[in-house]
Amino acid sequence: MDNSGGARSALIVGAGIAGLTAASALARRGWLVEVIEAGAEGATAGWGLSLTGPSLRALDGLGLADQCLAAGYGMSVITNVDADGAATPIGLPRLIGRDRPAMAGIARPELHRILRAEALRLGARTRHGLSVSRLDQGDGRVRAELTDGTTRDVELLVGADGIRSVVRDLIGRSAPIRYHGQMVWRALVPRPAWATGIHTFAGVGHQTGVVPISPSQAYVFLTENGVRPDVLPDADLAARMGELLAPFTGRAAEVRPEVARSGSVIRRPVQTAFVDAPWSAGTSVVIGDAAHAPSPQMASGAALAIEDGLVLAQELDRCEDVREALETFTERRRERCSVLVRTSVAIARLEQEQRHRDAYPLIETCHRRMAQPA
Ligand SMILES: Cc1cc2nc3c(=O)[nH]c(=O)nc-3n(C[C@H](O)[C@H](O)[C@H](O)COP(=O)(O)OP(=O)(O)OC[C@H]3O[C@@H](n4cnc5c(N)ncnc54)[C@H](O)[C@@H]3O)c2cc1C
Repeated sequence: MDNSGGARSALIVGAGIAGLTAASALARRGWLVEVIEAGAEGATAGWGLSLTGPSLRALDGLGLADQCLAAGYGMSVITNVDADGAATPIGLPRLIGRDRPAMAGIARPELHRILRAEALRLGARTRHGLSVSRLDQGDGRVRAELTDGTTRDVELLVGADGIRSVVRDLIGRSAPIRYHGQMVWRALVPRPAWATGIHTFAGVGHQTGVVPISPSQAYVFLTENGVRPDVLPDADLAARMGELLAPFTGRAAEVRPEVARSGSVIRRPVQTAFVDAPWSAGTSVVIGDAAHAPSPQMASGAALAIEDGLVLAQELDRCEDVREALETFTERRRERCSVLVRTSVAIARLEQEQRHRDAYPLIETCHRRMAQPA
């Protein structure tokens, strides 16, 4: 029996930032939404995230910006400190109004908790430990075979399953994953009293910085240049990151002892991917990192993922024909996402060449571009 009451149905693969945002945006417009997630419930890695102005603006579109600001740490200034110690503070545009901060730092699990609670509140269902193994595109519907042997027959299939997207392969799209010779580190530390905004420190060989994510916590990031993407034992990470910070002086040196004893350190390869072909096939589409994964340097992958969810729902609202709506969605998103991925790659290269000052104008131009409406 069809219990849908005429509502359109969507299956979203991946309960990350893009998937949960799309779930809320669609459920709010009356879609019946199911989200399947390969990982276990509550398994989000515990490192911090910067939510730039466009992220906050998109979260505001979902009514969630204030919750994120309350759970995180609002700020409006980035201070870039050169290798010679010269500090350049940059005031950031306040995209959600003069009375609210320009951006926020937040712990990833906190952002996921907020996005998930909103999706559930709006009626979306989520299932964990589940993925998709086969997709058959019919006339205006998709039949999905799931890894537990069950099937779903839906009007819309959204692949929000990250940079290594399975859905991308299943719909016949490819995006080579490129490694850029850098590893990024994140360590959770107590927030230093002076860290009321983002600080970046250029060093000889590597660059580092501090981002507050709550009144009591901050994360220290470090980009390690010219290394192979190997895996180090978890038990060695804090000590090794401490060693990499040894050449830094000033405030960067102050956080070093806290990093070396941090219980939460991660190290990830700097990778990018971009789908050059259309992001949809029939009534299936990929969004977020599955379609366009920038490197972390612009701290804007989450912004694109959240915007994708909103814009997708808007286009599906505007156009009854799902296939057409998905094509318009890609057209509307492609250039913005491509610019961001290309800029992040260029910054990674300049960092490797120790040309930090050359990177600043690129970063500023790209942020200005991102400040334009999605
Ligand atoms: C170290 C690092 C730091 C970063 N810092 C920032 C930052 O400060 N600010 C910022 O804006 N961006 C940052 N980014 C980028 C940002 O994390 C991503 O752009 C963003 O998470 C993309 O969201 P997503 O939902 O598309 O993908 P993901 O966050 O990767 O979520 C994908 C989800 O799909 C699930 N999944 C994967 N495969 C399957 C499958 N086959 N079936 C079902 N589920 C599946 C995964 O478990 C996951 O839950 C950073 C990235 C890295 C690596």
